[in-house]
Amino acid sequence: MNKPRIVILGAGYGGLTTAVQLQKKLNVNAAHITLVNKHDYHYETTWLHETAAGTLHHDRSRFDIKDILNSSKVNFVKDTVTAIKPDEKKVELAGSTIEYDYLVIALGFEPATFGIPGIEEHAFKIGSINQARLIREHIEHQFAKYNNDPEQARLNIVVGGGGFTGIEFLGEIANRVKELCEEFDVDRSKVRLINVEAMETIMPGFDPELVDYAMKSLGSRGVEFKLGAFLKEVRKDGITIEQNGEKEDIPAMTTIWSAGVRANSLVEQSGLEHNRGKVEVTPELRAPSHEDIFVVGDCALIWNKAIDRPYPPTAQIAMQEAEVCAHNLAALIKGGELEQFQYVDRGTVCSLGEKDAMGSIFGGKKIYGWFASVMKKVVDNRALYKIGGVGLVLKKGKFNIF
Ligand SMILES: Cc1cc2nc3c(=O)[nH]c(=O)nc-3n(C[C@H](O)[C@H](O)[C@H](O)COP(=O)(O)OP(=O)(O)OC[C@H]3O[C@@H](n4cnc5c(N)ncnc54)[C@H](O)[C@@H]3O)c2cc1C
Repeated sequence: MNKPRIVILGAGYGGLTTAVQLQKKLNVNAAHITLVNKHDYHYETTWLHETAAGTLHHDRSRFDIKDILNSSKVNFVKDTVTAIKPDEKKVELAGSTIEYDYLVIALGFEPATFGIPGIEEHAFKIGSINQARLIREHIEHQFAKYNNDPEQARLNIVVGGGGFTGIEFLGEIANRVKELCEEFDVDRSKVRLINVEAMETIMPGFDPELVDYAMKSLGSRGVEFKLGAFLKEVRKDGITIEQNGEKEDIPAMTTIWSAGVRANSLVEQSGLEHNRGKVEVTPELRAPSHEDIFVVGDCALIWNKAIDRPYPPTAQIAMQEAEVCAHNLAALIKGGELEQFQYVDRGTVCSLGEKDAMGSIFGGKKIYGWFASVMKKVVDNRALYKIGGVGLVLKKGKFNIF
């Protein structure tokens, strides 16, 4: 009998966890498993704000996918997915076509620009190692150029969006600026770090005390908040915002857009039923009307009935979904009951820089400051452990707690 072909698209939190779990659950003869990813490395997406600010080298945030996989059980293909064809049960890659019996879509997110002029062309995004590396190099270049060509726009860094990614980046860059100023002989008081957020608060959905703590911490390190302010346009050398009906132009050669993400657009293009670009999956994590397709991570949408809103796109959810997805695939192949996805909230911690953070753990206990920053490292190390065990934690883990 032919072995069923399982194809997993994307080796981020969702896809790589699915592959790792499947190689534990299935023996060599049970299935032919292929993992496709556009790079031969996995990156810790949740660490990219550090790479972008230059506080963590990009090689610390990534590792070779092949080091994690058992090559006798999972075949890794480094290629870019260009189209998913559910009705033909195949996936087109830049270099070939691949057929499947079961497909797992785990292609992650893309920035959502909401049609704001200039974001596509002029704003940086924190979405991959290469984008993060470009941001670091660009900021360093602006500091290096300032004393040769002293334009204020070089020292103004705008972050569009006061959600998780934007706030975590501000925490890192607020620390890094001190070092950049020393290295390039720039007066710290000349540097502006500006957060533009359309809502009246940063970190919407977070407890107001935690939000207040984050604003005070970042404010004390020079971050200016423009709340209730709409980004109207991004240019190469500046932005326009509208706040309280008034327009303001701010010169800035660095604008980072972190205010919105959407699912990888290949999902929408595939013709699968979708809800604003994401597949609203069944409790078993399958695409409706395509029982052979599982969707996990930022490409999947699951409704949180308790608050009548979808669960937010997080690594924590992607990894939990991947475990259920792998269980269900193994059950379909070996026989057994399918599981339904139940989210377990293990808390959320938002980093505010190397030694500061805030969040809630253990069912809502609020944590702040150094202790929260230690917990954030525990969360980061746990994600490594789930994918690559103790060996990966020892190789890439974060232990600098003092
Ligand atoms: C800076 C930042 C900080 C964050 N902090 C947190 C946090 O603290 N906690 C938390 O829970 N979540 C956090 N998130 C969100 C979290 O990173 C995402 O929800 C999570 O990465 C989603 O996992 P995923 O597997 O769906 O996608 P990803 O982990 O993004 O993986 C997608 C994979 O698909 C690959 N890929 C994409 N397109 C193609 C293609 N066409 N062909 C082949 N391969 C492709 C990519 O290279 C990548 O390897 C953060 C996000 C960012 C950007």
